[in-house]
Amino acid sequence: MRQTRDCSWQGILLRKVVYRNSSLLLDIITPQAGKITILAKGVRNPNNHFLSILEVGNELDILIQKSTTDLYYFKQAELIHAYFHGIAYEPSLPYYAAVELYLQLSFPEEEALLFYQLLKEYFTYMKKVSINGIAIFWRFFLRLFHLYGIPIDFSKCCHCHSTLSGYKAYLPSMNGFLCDNCLTHKWTDVIFFVNGENDALKKMNHIGNCLNQLILTDQTIRSINSLLLNHMSEHFHKPFHLKSLQSIRHE
Ligand SMILES: [Zn+2]
Repeated sequence: MRQTRDCSWQGILLRKVVYRNSSLLLDIITPQAGKITILAKGVRNPNNHFLSILEVGNELDILIQKSTTDLYYFKQAELIHAYFHGIAYEPSLPYYAAVELYLQLSFPEEEALLFYQLLKEYFTYMKKVSINGIAIFWRFFLRLFHLYGIPIDFSKCCHCHSTLSGYKAYLPSMNGFLCDNCLTHKWTDVIFFVNGENDALKKMNHIGNCLNQLILTDQTIRSINSLLLNHMSEHFHKPFHLKSLQSIRHE
């Protein structure tokens, strides 16, 4: 006998893809099961009143039916919060970057709640940020590393473990920064940083309190984004991309 069950859960919509004209496939993160895919049959039909709330970034109360496979079937939904509502294009990019990241990650089911809360808190905090939102995205990224148990060490040299005074160079193969002494060794895969990045990296552990003092150039933003993506890729042995951040511009 085919076993199905109804689940009444919360979820944040990460992606929607048109499926067979009138339906949608929805990727949603839930506190109960992590990331799931829901088939919403017929929701694109005219007059379907659920369509308007099925937007990326919306937090929903959803009633779904679990099939015997990994697929869920949509029954109904109610809007809890539209996090992306009313945000202009440029400030919305760090929001989409977090969504992109979540689409590429997988979450252990027993810790799904923590990842769900992190995303929710990030969206909520971003609403209050009027300058340098990208730095809050970096903080979100660092908190993700903590949840996965792979934090970047900003205090010690990854080679000799002495206390770092600055962040001139990063060694991807050891996932850490090099002190001035170790920097003189012959490394083949070092990523060098210039002054702007060094300043932002020095503030990284309390960056939420320094948003007004940060001077971020395109170069600084690109370098720090690629450092964080690199760290993620090293640990999960696959490339990570953030298309939404490629068009971020800073004056
Ligand atoms: Zn060292």
